Amino acid sequence: MKGFNESQKPKSSRERSRACSYCSSSDHVANVCSNAESDWKSLNKGILPHTEKSWWGHKGVPNARYKTVWYSRPEYWSDWYKQCHKASIMIDKRKAREEVKSKSTAKGKSVAKKCGFCAGTGHNRRDCAELDNISEQIVLENRRWRSRFFKRYVVDMGLSVGAVVQVERNVGYNKEPQLLTGLITQTNMEKLSMFCMIGSYSNAPESLRQPMSIDFISNGKPYKVKLTDHRDKNSWSGSLHDNAGLLVNEFDRFGGGYSNQSATLKSVIAKSSEPVDPTWITQGHRESVVWLTKKYSLAKLESYGVLKLLEKLKKDNDKFDKINETS
Ligand SMILES: [Zn+2]
Ligand SMILES: [Zn+2]
Repeated sequence: MKGFNESQKPKSSRERSRACSYCSSSDHVANVCSNAESDWKSLNKGILPHTEKSWWGHKGVPNARYKTVWYSRPEYWSDWYKQCHKASIMIDKRKAREEVKSKSTAKGKSVAKKCGFCAGTGHNRRDCAELDNISEQIVLENRRWRSRFFKRYVVDMGLSVGAVVQVERNVGYNKEPQLLTGLITQTNMEKLSMFCMIGSYSNAPESLRQPMSIDFISNGKPYKVKLTDHRDKNSWSGSLHDNAGLLVNEFDRFGGGYSNQSATLKSVIAKSSEPVDPTWITQGHRESVVWLTKKYSLAKLESYGVLKLLEKLKKDNDKFDKINETS
């Protein structure tokens, strides 16, 4: 899931994006910014704070370059005023929220416990049976999805890293596609799960989608390869199925839809023999499920179609087991 992947990025890049929108400091956000609070007290009275020109520099506020511009260039003073006003509103709102919260805690036990996941009362998400149940189901079906994916993509098609394949690339309207032979150099297998089944036309938010990414190199030039099988031979997003149903509904491309570094798999010339870590299947991408149930309530998962997807996957997985039993 794109959202989960995003949450796994190293802290520094996330913190940078959470810097204070007023003073640019990375230690806090604007609704607790003491610089904004004290500046506003002054600006609100029509008095420009920090009359010493070098104030910001001496204060040592990290990344405060913008504000230096504000102070030293009077043409930006109105921006300064606007930004400070905006921050002061955020500060007031945060204080109001805190007050409401402290009042309701003061009332104490009269406030019934309510679960943030299933909205039931008398328990919270830590002891929510519904949350445990859904999480276990997702992990289980993910595990079954991964073993199907493994069979189809790695064993049958032999497409892991190192496979030699031929791909087809559109070079223009009404022209014969160009054929390229090369190597698969990388895939994003560690990120793949049942969420690969979500297509671009679903109600699910972007954060739940998980396209598959296949990197290919030919004559020193990199491409992204999509697979298409089944009835949707010409689908721009590609697809991968096995004999029980859909596995992947979307592949990463280079740039836009007709980018010339996007290609479609034509045939496998030499299968890859790269081993796959067996825990990839057994752990069922559990850590992403923890993220999912923390981020979205049961009602949200329902409205995004995740519960339906789970139901469909369970049916496909059962079908797959049945086919394999009899063959
Ligand atoms: Zn600040
Ligand atoms: Zn609950």
